[in-house]
Amino acid sequence: MHINSTLPKKILAWYDNSKRSLPWRVGKKSPKKLYYRLLSEFMLQQTQVKTVIPYFYNFTKKFKTLKALSKSNETEILKMWEGLGYYRRARNLLACSKILVKSYNSKLPYSINEIKKLPGVGDYTANALLGLIYNEPRIALDGNVKRVFSRNLNTDENKINFERFIEKNKKKLFTTNRNDDFVEALMEFGALICKPRDPNCLKCCLKKTCKYFKSSRKVKSIKKKMIKKKNFDIFCYVNNKKQIALTKNNRISFLKNFNVPEIREVSSFPKNQNWKFLKNYKKSISNLKLNINLYYKFSNKIPPMYNWYSLNRNKEFVPSFTKKIFRQVSSLF
Ligand code: SF4
Repeated sequence: MHINSTLPKKILAWYDNSKRSLPWRVGKKSPKKLYYRLLSEFMLQQTQVKTVIPYFYNFTKKFKTLKALSKSNETEILKMWEGLGYYRRARNLLACSKILVKSYNSKLPYSINEIKKLPGVGDYTANALLGLIYNEPRIALDGNVKRVFSRNLNTDENKINFERFIEKNKKKLFTTNRNDDFVEALMEFGALICKPRDPNCLKCCLKKTCKYFKSSRKVKSIKKKMIKKKNFDIFCYVNNKKQIALTKNNRISFLKNFNVPEIREVSSFPKNQNWKFLKNYKKSISNLKLNINLYYKFSNKIPPMYNWYSLNRNKEFVPSFTKKIFRQVSSLF
């Protein structure tokens, strides 16, 4: 599987003319480069650029440097991350900043194996950072980039061994000495031109060599997201002081270690203890579609491991999942 050797130069020329102006794209020599790239890479995992931008501004306004971020704490970071979702990223970002400041003098290690030991940093992010920070010849294989390559080859993405493909094509891919720009240009090109549903082939700089464009039998590249449907019952202890009892979640797969009421998959918990039905609603988290039945009970006694929280509390971080429950339960008062 060989790409056309003109691909990198054409994509870079397109990038120079058409790239978006994004706040984390600072100058190549900027001292903020590592901090801005690390922050944006964490924030952009599973999240769209336009959602990330205001959060990025808030973070960089409050924490001017990686060192300043590393001195923060989980409560503060989670509060600032509130609404962005996938909160494990916030915890990993903080842990990552502490390690980089303490053990690497606020620099990125040069070895990919060292980088991949950082919390929350996998193959994709490690390659992206090495390319972006050190101009190393790297390809960060996210969904956009895989699509650009598989369309140019008009081959099903699942049938490509990308590591082998990059190795075989490295002489064609890394010819410009602009590896940092190329990492980003490929992703940008996939996001703006070679889009999942509606590739802009007529305006594309690669159409002369792209096998997808030229073929009468185009290989589809849209993957269906596997959505799992789950039914949950949520049981809320409430009291007359407008408080709700929460406990650290270690039972269900999402929102691990965050404070939530009692949550059970339907029919695994007895509902005969004076629980009253409050509401049914739907909620999506990642690839889960939740059908939720909310129950409540006024009580001053709560099980061990539970603590009372004010329903009006908003200074502390509360995940949006729990906030929604707060809103529903508040309607009782
Ligand atoms: S010609 Fe179409 S399919 Fe090929 S790279 Fe360009 S946008 Fe993608």
